[in-house]
Amino acid sequence: MLTKVLIWVAVALPVAAAMEPWAALLHGRVWHRWLWLVHRSHHTARRGRFEHNDALSFLHAPIAVALILWGCLGEPGVLREVAFGAGLGMTLFGVAYAIVHDGLVHGRLPVAALGRLRTFDRIRRAHQAHHRREHGGPYGLFLGPRELAREVAARRATRAPQRSARPGPSEEKTSR
Ligand SMILES: [Zn+2]
Ligand SMILES: [Zn+2]
Repeated sequence: MLTKVLIWVAVALPVAAAMEPWAALLHGRVWHRWLWLVHRSHHTARRGRFEHNDALSFLHAPIAVALILWGCLGEPGVLREVAFGAGLGMTLFGVAYAIVHDGLVHGRLPVAALGRLRTFDRIRRAHQAHHRREHGGPYGLFLGPRELAREVAARRATRAPQRSARPGPSEEKTSR
């Protein structure tokens, strides 16, 4: 049993972590482009309890359920345990995403207390920045603050050479 649990944990954690860049990629490249008609409902005021975008949130659920079912009912062996771990990791990410994104950021679940923790507050602010721009990052949720920080650093880096290209006060004096 211990070996099985170790396999589940060893597979579930990296799968859950990999879901963040995957979700960010889908959000930026697919939701905000080809599926904007559906995702737009998340960027406008919600009328009622649900929005069309909720359908996108459940897109990965059948895959996770299938992996877990295979992990429970499939032929005994390592592959079965790996499938179970992968399904578990996807579910873990889905639950965490629902709590933080839908619950904390959009107030759809009673988890406002999480916002008192600095990390969650930074995640919330980064995602709110995404909502202020119609088509602009950060597209990731948990790594949203990092995306924002990278963006600021890149902006500074592009401005810096322009500033240094202009003659400084001492250079101006010598050229007169
Ligand atoms: Zn969006
Ligand atoms: Zn949102």
